[in-house]
Amino acid sequence: MIANFHTHTNYCDHAKGSPEDCVLAALEAGLSELGFSEHIPYIFPDGHESGFRMKRADLKAYVEDVKALKVKYADKIKIHLGLEVEYYPALFDRTMESVKGLGIEYILLGQHFLNDKETVHGCSPKAEEEHIKTYTELVCEGMRRGVFTYLCHPDMINYVGDDEIYKKYAKIICETAKECDVPIEFNLLGYLTGRCYPNEKFFSVVAEVGNDVVLGIDAHEPERFYQKETELSAIKFLNSLGITPKEKITIKKPF
Ligand SMILES: [Zn+2]
Ligand SMILES: [Zn+2]
Repeated sequence: MIANFHTHTNYCDHAKGSPEDCVLAALEAGLSELGFSEHIPYIFPDGHESGFRMKRADLKAYVEDVKALKVKYADKIKIHLGLEVEYYPALFDRTMESVKGLGIEYILLGQHFLNDKETVHGCSPKAEEEHIKTYTELVCEGMRRGVFTYLCHPDMINYVGDDEIYKKYAKIICETAKECDVPIEFNLLGYLTGRCYPNEKFFSVVAEVGNDVVLGIDAHEPERFYQKETELSAIKFLNSLGITPKEKITIKKPF
């Protein structure tokens, strides 16, 4: 692995380590490219601030921190300033407008919730088709906006109903990703910690459709950069399905 674009820091309330700790860990792990993708401070109409995201008040410091590291480590590693963003149709444009002009180089699509009230999480088990349908519609509409560098944990939705229904929606996501030239992430955090994703059924559809696949550490602590075994096991698993992950990630400009 030479590039990781999925990195969280202590700027969001559920990750550990400063951006510089992550740079040092990434250097130690031998990466030549590192992208920071902190959770965007979404603008909610009622002024609500989610505990899961970076606080709006910290955005400027995050940006300055990462920009300073870009300069400090310029001869050692290529650093990129990014954000992980959900697609909430009614709030997306306004939220993106609020981070314009800060020098954000890339955004990743990471759909964790099924509504912009953030009350229904993708990981909670659901057997009703309407949930996987909603998830698929949000992710596909998001990808069609043409601003996302890649799709994080594309299989976060924990649909526990019929297999054929699952595959039908997985195919819609994969075909839309291909059409929109959006690579799909194999999420190493989920793989390492045994979450409901990555899902083998999803990745067999990925293989069928022939999507570009990238590995994402989804680091929530600097130690996550040292996971050679997980990485090799993930590559072996993907190879067994006929997938070879891409090493290079191509940035799509969000503005
Ligand atoms: Zn995420
Ligand atoms: Zn993430």
